[in-house]
Amino acid sequence: MSHHIPEISDEPVVAEVIAHSNFLVSTGATGTKFLKELRDNKKIVGITCPSCKKVYVPPRSHCPTCFAKMTEWVELSGKGSLTSYTVVRYQEPYMPREVPYAYGVIQMDGADTGLTHLLGDIDLDKIKIGMRLEPVFKEEREGSILDIDYFKHFNDNNGHQAGDEALKITAQLLEESFRVEDVIGRYGGEEFIVLLKDVAQDEAYAPANRFRAKVEQYPYPYENNQPGGKLTVSGGLANFPVHGSSIREITVKADEALYQAKNEGRNRVMMAPLPYFSSGTCLPVQYHSSETVT
Ligand SMILES: [Zn+2]
Repeated sequence: MSHHIPEISDEPVVAEVIAHSNFLVSTGATGTKFLKELRDNKKIVGITCPSCKKVYVPPRSHCPTCFAKMTEWVELSGKGSLTSYTVVRYQEPYMPREVPYAYGVIQMDGADTGLTHLLGDIDLDKIKIGMRLEPVFKEEREGSILDIDYFKHFNDNNGHQAGDEALKITAQLLEESFRVEDVIGRYGGEEFIVLLKDVAQDEAYAPANRFRAKVEQYPYPYENNQPGGKLTVSGGLANFPVHGSSIREITVKADEALYQAKNEGRNRVMMAPLPYFSSGTCLPVQYHSSETVT
């Protein structure tokens, strides 16, 4: 059997080719389920890490933070908030849309990760971080992320009301959990700060945990949009004078402990690590006339 080999001329041939790569990529079992749900049911599903409880969309088989194998699927509404965007104004032939158009990173309700997708049906001058978005599905779907045609803005009065309501409930639970002489304040969007007067370092765990448990048990409205279907809080504790000598130093330490509590799976209270002298000995804990910030 012989193949016919075409003669090759010396003349160079110049052609402008836009490559439509014609190969198949396996998305694995996890990606396949995600795309099948999109195609067959117009559903967006995420996956939860059994260890750190983070919810990933798009899903992946292993948690990039703690490497745990993830198998627990969660169905999401697909609605979310815009966390970042870019407007494309330069046309390239392989691009999916005529310029100008926008890409955004959408943090879906109940997910810990952002999904990058096209924004559509939207006034490019009115895009803003935090705007509420919902997916628009294609009628003919084929099992690709582009089965979501784009995300469009929608008015989410319920979301705002639910957020306000959640803050009010949380403030109420804080008041119920701490003493009248403790000072409770709001510290940014979803953060609160509590100053516990004359409380030793290890005595702060009890009221902080009482508050944490109350939040966990309280049936917040719309909390099924949260990861794991529950609204929870994390707390960081730091003590004067153990962790610092100024309110600023102590707040920074409490914030570090809060970050660690979130990293270790949320819904927990953690104490800032004790500072060490270079000899390796621990600073003594002062049990009276001390203040703890949570
Ligand atoms: Zn994890």
